[in-house]
Amino acid sequence: MTTEEMIALSEKTIMGTYRRFPVVMTRGEGVRVWDSNGKEYLDFVAGIAVCILGHCHPAVVEAIKRQAEILMHVSNLYYIEPQISFASQLVEHSFADKVFFCNSGAEANEGAIKLARRYAFEHMAPERRELITMTDSFHGRTLATISATGQKKFQVGFDPLPGGFKYVPFNDITALEGALTERTCGVLLEPIQGEGGVRVPDDDYLRKVRSLCNEKGILMILDEVQVGMGRTGHLFAYEHDSVTPDIMTLAKGLGNGFPMGAVLATEKVASAFVPGTHASTFGGNPLAMAAGLAVLDTLLKTDVLENCRRQGAYLQECLTKLKEKYPFVREIRGRGLIQGMELTIQGSDIVRSCMEKGLLINCTNENVLRFVPPLILSKSDIDRAVEILGKAMGEQ
Ligand code: PMP
Repeated sequence: MTTEEMIALSEKTIMGTYRRFPVVMTRGEGVRVWDSNGKEYLDFVAGIAVCILGHCHPAVVEAIKRQAEILMHVSNLYYIEPQISFASQLVEHSFADKVFFCNSGAEANEGAIKLARRYAFEHMAPERRELITMTDSFHGRTLATISATGQKKFQVGFDPLPGGFKYVPFNDITALEGALTERTCGVLLEPIQGEGGVRVPDDDYLRKVRSLCNEKGILMILDEVQVGMGRTGHLFAYEHDSVTPDIMTLAKGLGNGFPMGAVLATEKVASAFVPGTHASTFGGNPLAMAAGLAVLDTLLKTDVLENCRRQGAYLQECLTKLKEKYPFVREIRGRGLIQGMELTIQGSDIVRSCMEKGLLINCTNENVLRFVPPLILSKSDIDRAVEILGKAMGEQ
């Protein structure tokens, strides 16, 4: 099939949930991907913050291959060695005592919402059913997670939505305090809002949320689907703020491209899930676990996190220089290798122009260019990306 034929067939047979660029991607390696015409791109989207170790990282590929030859699935009615190993590793390196495995970010957040409610049902007053979430947040595309998501555009036409969510502005502790009632069982938020436009809270915000949750005896739930697994330069974003949540969700980078999600929780909270309360057929399957073990091992045993901090600072410095040059840049913000450039104009023309020139970036919330490259990138990758970006911005 030619590229045009593939695109035509895709439009004919696949539901139109994504607005796609007219290219067919065929191969990836490290920070680069290639399309069906052999054109090379520097990938600063990386599956939207998924391929933290770069495309087709050899350790992950090898782990999946090895596991595929041994066992791919038997169901969760039996114990599975790689699942036990990966859960133990996640527990050892996080605040959590227990893990539930699933297959995506939305499924992880569904699990977290159910866990919080079930915990409230068992251990708090029965009327505590409500979760506070944030304006401009994003938690997924299932019914409960679009309901938890604080952006109306994801909810239009899908009512009736599950109830029990109340929204307050992100980074506003007074608003949060004012919204808490006798019905609140927890607060669900992203440590940095990704889809909401790379919004970084004030330095003491998460600590204040933690204190408030402690004071009221309610749960703090962090959605680290986009910023967990090293993206901010720490294994988990909460480490930067020196707080620990009661529940945390992970996905995206967890398998470096292999689909996987996880709900992590303290012993006390996790005890609300007992056999029969929640499950997922493919959650914790051996292939995903093998991928996850290889990812975590690489993050812990190589200098990836250090590289993320170093290159993240350099990328931010380069973007700040572009801000000084172009008056239509309003702000640069981010932490590690999630960086955002807020514009006073729409970002789509710059995204398209960068792509033509061999750089993949994307635009979130209409006017925020988002940079989430693999954490293994080098200074020269950034130099090349910034050169292309600068040219595209010069055309505006
Ligand atoms: N939470 C956050 C913070 C996300 O960024 C995303 C995906 N963009 C999700 C949840 C949903 O993840 P998934 O697409 O794997 O369901």
